[in-house]
Amino acid sequence: MLERYFVCSDIHDDVEALAQFADYAQAQDADRLLVLGDFSLRPYTSNDLAQLKKTENVPEFIQAKRKHTQNILGEMKDLLENTEIPYSVIPGNYDSNHDIEVVFGDHNLHKKDTKFGEALVYGHGGANAFPHHIGLLVQLREIEILDNQELFDSLERIRPDIALTHTPPHLLCDDQYDGQNMGTPAITQHIVNCAPRLILSGHIHEAGPLGNNPNEAHGIRAFQKPSVDEDITFVLNPGNLGRFEGVHPHTLDPIQKFDYGTFLRVDVMDDGIPTKVIMYSLQTTDRTIGEVKTLAEHSL
Ligand SMILES: [Zn+2]
Repeated sequence: MLERYFVCSDIHDDVEALAQFADYAQAQDADRLLVLGDFSLRPYTSNDLAQLKKTENVPEFIQAKRKHTQNILGEMKDLLENTEIPYSVIPGNYDSNHDIEVVFGDHNLHKKDTKFGEALVYGHGGANAFPHHIGLLVQLREIEILDNQELFDSLERIRPDIALTHTPPHLLCDDQYDGQNMGTPAITQHIVNCAPRLILSGHIHEAGPLGNNPNEAHGIRAFQKPSVDEDITFVLNPGNLGRFEGVHPHTLDPIQKFDYGTFLRVDVMDDGIPTKVIMYSLQTTDRTIGEVKTLAEHSL
């Protein structure tokens, strides 16, 4: 049995982009939908922030933030539920696991293992990089922070065939626009030790299918130890589906706009071995949500 997974990440509040992804996946007979974190871009409003500065009432701010975020997450959940396709999610570094758990319940795979067919699957969200307006939420413990040692220990203990992580492995689809590699060595070391079949991660938008990085990472990397009969690990990064913007720390106005709109399909055998990847884009030149176009196809 071959399953078609449709995989996206880094939605960043863009409900319309997620709707197009869900529609397309449904039309293509997807067997499973996976969302790899960063649902939010602005987890609270500029009004909430102004109120906090005025009153210094932290519990009130957290309550307002949770309400605002959970409303948007609820719209996203409805889109995923309406497809009637099995789906799983993990939090990113713009999300709190509390909000994700409240809204998505058992669909949240953060620090949980499960099975897709015969394949053992482990999910682990969060990251260690935070823009200014998210730093506030980190201080208030309303953001999922990645503990590299905990991630490594969990991977080594569970030994999944497939891992869903927000942060990519160091050196594998983690290439920033300036060529720096921002991934976690925790996953890379586990790949060297145990050769899982497939790692799906997002977070570094520029290492997705559009490949806006000098290292020519385009959403797919493979790792194999230099002896003939070792298993290959494929690492896939779907890029950012949503219309991502840099956010002014005080006004929350957009200060810089980036490419967006990518996601992928990966066909996976029952034991977790991927056989084919197709990469898509719905980006347009006028920053609307366009028709889905195929960017690339790879047999693995
Ligand atoms: Zn992101």
